[in-house]
Amino acid sequence: MEQTVPGSVLGTEEEFVAGSGTKVGPDGSIYSVVCGDAEVSKDKAISVKPALQIPKALKQGAVVYGRVEEIFEPVALIQIAPISERAERQVPPEGYAVLHAKESGEGYVENVRDQVHIGDIIKAVVIGIRRDGEISLTLKSRGLGVVKAYCSRCRAPLALVAGGALKCGRCGSTERRNLAPEFPKR
Ligand SMILES: [Zn+2]
Repeated sequence: MEQTVPGSVLGTEEEFVAGSGTKVGPDGSIYSVVCGDAEVSKDKAISVKPALQIPKALKQGAVVYGRVEEIFEPVALIQIAPISERAERQVPPEGYAVLHAKESGEGYVENVRDQVHIGDIIKAVVIGIRRDGEISLTLKSRGLGVVKAYCSRCRAPLALVAGGALKCGRCGSTERRNLAPEFPKR
């Protein structure tokens, strides 16, 4: 079926049963938590088979996907999405990482909110793992950034429009993010 990234909406609970590699959102939509290929079984269970190269361990330099859970300026709290069952075991118990404003975009960034918003899915690189397990991320290298963005007013997915801005199809809000090259083009 279709290729997914963490956060890709696959359907609703009315259509499918959430299988492995998926979760049900608060609005009843089923979304992917891994990168891979979505497939539907005969009994209407939708699951995603992870397709990415699996990092040997979550270590410095590893590429991860994560969801922006909270923003406490100048830091965003990211829930790392397991990109395979094997990687999941290597994610620390809480599975959280931090993204500091200074690592969230090119040049001087004062607010992490100028680069990512709550609910967004980001592709990041692990730049540090402290002894207490705190993982820090960066979006500063090529190929990193937001891969899926949601309207900060109404939570609908945002689409890329001319000039590199993002527009909400539901409420019309226009926003900006630090976009990854793989952000879907229209
Ligand atoms: Zn909106």
